[in-house]
Amino acid sequence: MKWILFLGALVGTAWGTQTFAGDQVLRVEPCNTDQVGLLKQLEAQESLRLDFWRFPSYPNRLVDVQVPFSCLQAVKVFLESHHVKYSVLIEDVQAMVDEEAQEMELNQRSERNRNGFNFAAYHPLDSIYRAMDDIVAQHPQLMSKVQIGESYEKRPLNVLKFSTGGTDRPAIWIDAGIHAREWVTQATALWTANKIACDYGKDPVLTSVLNSMDIFLLPVANPDGYVFSHTKNRMWRKTRSKVPGSSCVGVDPNRNWDAGFGGPGASSNPCSDSYHGPSANSEAEVRSIVEFIKSHGNVKAFISIHSYSQLMMYPYGYKCSSPKDHQELDEVVKEATSALASLYGTQYKVGPICSVIYQASGGSIDWSYDYGIKYSFAFELRDTGRHGFLLPANQIVPTAEETWLGLKTTMEYVQTHPY
Ligand SMILES: [Zn+2]
Repeated sequence: MKWILFLGALVGTAWGTQTFAGDQVLRVEPCNTDQVGLLKQLEAQESLRLDFWRFPSYPNRLVDVQVPFSCLQAVKVFLESHHVKYSVLIEDVQAMVDEEAQEMELNQRSERNRNGFNFAAYHPLDSIYRAMDDIVAQHPQLMSKVQIGESYEKRPLNVLKFSTGGTDRPAIWIDAGIHAREWVTQATALWTANKIACDYGKDPVLTSVLNSMDIFLLPVANPDGYVFSHTKNRMWRKTRSKVPGSSCVGVDPNRNWDAGFGGPGASSNPCSDSYHGPSANSEAEVRSIVEFIKSHGNVKAFISIHSYSQLMMYPYGYKCSSPKDHQELDEVVKEATSALASLYGTQYKVGPICSVIYQASGGSIDWSYDYGIKYSFAFELRDTGRHGFLLPANQIVPTAEETWLGLKTTMEYVQTHPY
């Protein structure tokens, strides 16, 4: 048995599974714009293969970057020689990836034995899709599955529709997992689907929302990337579309929306993790959502869920001027994040994307806002970098529980402030 596992591991490597043995994640704290410039120089050096978990920007200071083992020394020497402050956030990325994989494997075995689904574990795409079908089957009066399109590799984009009746009711849109490696977001969305299904008729706020509005929830907005992050590269962020004329694969689907497309904070280099793609809406995943929202015609709130950093943001990202509803949106995010913090004390920062993180063009909630959906928000869930994208599975349910309070507060506000 051991030998078979060992052979399997060898074959996995031979097939090109990305390993991160000895890679570290550094927390870099540039103290002025010159130092941010130095980090941007490092970022531009493709041969270093740095993976920015948090991109360099100023004055927001903190930058998290995964450095391959092979250039760790060089990068550290570079930072030290320029007096840039840094610390080691993750000692060995592969060790954490292995631990996570092992935990998933154990969970899958126990799920098979119990014939049940564990919301406190990470799952491959087919398990998530099966669980979605099961939740729908258990609540047919309230829920249905709507396929809004398919990914580049022809996987269905499955949306859960919650509706208590009526036609063309105003609706709330929620998507998660547009960035593949942000695994706590897909898991949170699935937990949320189950929560909505179970709490309708019991929770007065949710019940009232669903008695006048529909909810559309897309738990895995980037299924190709998600599968790839399970099978080949845990740190995959983008779609899996082929880029003509480049050997690099994939587009950052949150730089691909028709909102300041191609502007600052997006890369024109197909090998970059923030590559905006050949044109706005070039990605099937983005196009499918855009077409769905346009054809629905009555979406009143648009919420995109990412990780990590613990932020709740509103437009704009592609420019640094405030949207006209700035004051009201600011009120909503403050209310929502204080509800969120009430459960476990998890602190969120709030504000427009441009000032909370950095200028980033082609993002989903900028598009939805400019399209006329006033209540457009983006969440960045736990944590603040201790584990980053490798958030331990035992934090899934607490993360989902607190996020639910933020979501519910937002939905209640939207329902009681029609426009
Ligand atoms: Zn993201």
